[in-house]
Amino acid sequence: MSKNWYPQIDGEKCIKCYSCYNKCPHGVFTKRDANVVVSNPNGCYDHCHGCGNICPTGAITYFGDDTGWVPPAATKKTAQKIRIQVTGACCKKSQQNYLNVLEAAKRLEVADCVEHVEDMEEIINLGILSNPGLIINGKIIASGRILTIEQAMEYIKKYL
Ligand code: SF4
Ligand code: SF4
Repeated sequence: MSKNWYPQIDGEKCIKCYSCYNKCPHGVFTKRDANVVVSNPNGCYDHCHGCGNICPTGAITYFGDDTGWVPPAATKKTAQKIRIQVTGACCKKSQQNYLNVLEAAKRLEVADCVEHVEDMEEIINLGILSNPGLIINGKIIASGRILTIEQAMEYIKKYL
């Protein structure tokens, strides 16, 4: 019997936050390069909207879905367009870097997309070996150096 329910990812909307990959307990998704792909559609549980409900950009819809379900992010006024993670908090350099990136994001009107990652285990899992660090949409942009507000703005603009 062919599979008649599985998630589909709109690559244009996906910001590579990996929430779907982390959420699904059935091994439906795989990380490939920096992307998330649906590698095991047969593992998807019929009529589950678990990953689609947490996707911040509304990038996930479902093949075979005739329930009328709409991605929650699509109903928000502005779906999240970008995920900006700033790592490090335990030294002046990291604190200043966070403030600079936050200010850059404010000027570009995406301050609500900035996350301050302070937990060392999480930072290492993100691939940052030296703080302060900046990650945008899952990609390491800078590590071990403070960015000026202007530099941070240039990096962020590339993803808007
Ligand atoms: S939850 Fe949405 S934005 Fe995040 S990786 Fe999955 S499809 Fe992409
Ligand atoms: S809908 Fe549910 S079972 Fe299917 S991929 Fe998403 S979280 Fe996994």
